[in-house]
Amino acid sequence: MKVLFAAAELAPLVKVGGLADVTGSLPLALGRRGLDVRAILPLYRRFVPSEGTTGLGRSVRALGRECPVWRTDRPGFPVYLLQADDLYDRPGVYGEGGQGYADNDRRYGLLAAVALELGEAIGWSPDVLHLHDWHTAAAAVHARRRGGPPSLLTIHNLAYQGVFPRESLPALGLGEELLVPEVLEHHGQVNLLKGGILSADRVGTVSPTYAREICTPAFGEGLDGVLRALPEPPLGILNGLDLERWDPAADSAVAPIRAADPLSGKAANKERLCRELGLKSGPVLAGMVTRLAQQKGVDLVVQALPRLLDAGVSVALLGEGDPALAAAWEAAARDHPGRVAFSRAFDDALARRIYAGSDLFLVPSRFEPCGLTQMIALRYGSVPVVRRTGGLGDTVREGEDGFVFEDPDPDQLAEAVGRAVGALAREDRRRILLQRGMARDFSWDASAGRYHEVYEGLVRCAPQGGGER
Ligand code: ADP
Repeated sequence: MKVLFAAAELAPLVKVGGLADVTGSLPLALGRRGLDVRAILPLYRRFVPSEGTTGLGRSVRALGRECPVWRTDRPGFPVYLLQADDLYDRPGVYGEGGQGYADNDRRYGLLAAVALELGEAIGWSPDVLHLHDWHTAAAAVHARRRGGPPSLLTIHNLAYQGVFPRESLPALGLGEELLVPEVLEHHGQVNLLKGGILSADRVGTVSPTYAREICTPAFGEGLDGVLRALPEPPLGILNGLDLERWDPAADSAVAPIRAADPLSGKAANKERLCRELGLKSGPVLAGMVTRLAQQKGVDLVVQALPRLLDAGVSVALLGEGDPALAAAWEAAARDHPGRVAFSRAFDDALARRIYAGSDLFLVPSRFEPCGLTQMIALRYGSVPVVRRTGGLGDTVREGEDGFVFEDPDPDQLAEAVGRAVGALAREDRRRILLQRGMARDFSWDASAGRYHEVYEGLVRCAPQGGGER
C-alpha cells in the first residue's frame, strides 16, 4: 500500500502547530505496519536543507511551471520538497505578523496540483492520497476530475478553510465551472476546504468528539450542513504522539522524569524553569504552550488571572500569534513580575522545559479538534486543566489524571484550577495523578490501524481505470 501525504507542515522539518506533529509521526506508525508512506511539502526558507537533502535532478510540471523537487529522509520516511522560491522562500510559513500571505491561493494551489503529478516524476504512484487541511484539499478536486487515486481528507481545524475570491481560480488551477455549490462555491467565494470535503472519497477529523461537533452549527464554521449531508459521517480518529520525540525520561532538553519517581524529576525541572523565567519558585506553576488565537482561550486565562494568583498559582506562557492577545500577556507579565512569565516565541526546547517544569497545564480552548499539548503535558507529569471540547474531553479524565470544566468561562477555569491545586497539595494524591497520566497510552498504534483500514476500504472501492468520478 502506497500512500502520499500532502501537507503544509511536517515535523521536524517545519512546524507551526499540531498538524506538523501528525504528518511527521503518523507515517512512521504506518511504516511499522508495512505501508510505504511518503510526503510532499513546500521547500520553505525555514527548512534548513543541509542535512541529508538531495536534489532529485527532476522537476514536476504543474500549473504551467516546472518546479524542482528535493528529497530528504530525515523524518524517517521520504519527504519530497517542492521548490518554488518566489512562493516559499520567505520568513514565514503561512504569513507574517499575524497576516496570511496575500498569494496563499497560488502557494497552496501549486502544492495541491503537484500532489497529483509527483508520482510520475519520481516513478512511484500512490494508491491513496492523504490530504491534510485546506492547503491540499484542492488535490481531491483535481483527483476526482482527472481519475487520480482515491483520497482521504483529514480536517485538523475546520476554522481555516482557504477562502478566496473567484478571481483566484486561475492561480489555483481550477476552472470557472467548478465554482458551484456542489464543488467549491460557498457564499459566492471559492472555499477550498468545502471543495475537498465534497470531492474527497472520505473525510475525517482528529478526535471522535470533534467529528460529531463539526456536524453541528455551534462548531461547524458554516460547513456543518455540508458535513451532515456526506454519504458517510466524518471519521473521528484520535491523534497519537510520537513517543520517542516526546519521552520525558530521555528528552535532552529537560532533566529526566521517570514514572517510578515523578516528583523528584519534576522538582528539578521546575526549579530550573523558574530561574530561567525569573519566577518565584514556591507557588504552583501553571504552564501553557500555544498559538495565540481566540480558539485557544488564552484571553480567559488573563481574565481568571486575579483568582489564579490568589490561589497561589503562577503562570508561564509560551506562544506567538495574534498581536492583541500578545499585548494582553505582555501587560500581565509586567503587572505581576515573578508570578507571570510570557515568552513570545516559537521555541521547541522551551516548550519542553515548560511541559517538564510546570505543575499544571492549562488548555482552556473554545474548540479543540484534538489538541496535543494536553497529551504531552500528561506524559511530562504536568496535570492538565482543560475545557471539555473536542479531543480535550476525549483524552483528559476529571479527577483521574487531570481536571475538566464545561464552558469557556474564566470562573469555571479558575474553579477547575482550584480543584487541581487542592489535589496537588497532597503528595500522595499528586503522585497518583502524575503516575496515571504518565501511564496513558498515546501511541499511534491503534489510530494507525484505523487509518490503514480506511485506506484499504478506499482502494477496494476505487473505480478501476481512472476517469472522472
Ligand atoms: P494547534 O495545532 O491547534 O496549534 P495542538 O495542541 O494540536 O495545537 O499542537 C500544538 C503543537 O505545537 C504542540 O506540539 C506544541 O508543543 C507546539 N507549539 C505550539 N506553540 C508553540 C510555541 N510557541 N513554541 C514551541 N512549540 C509550540
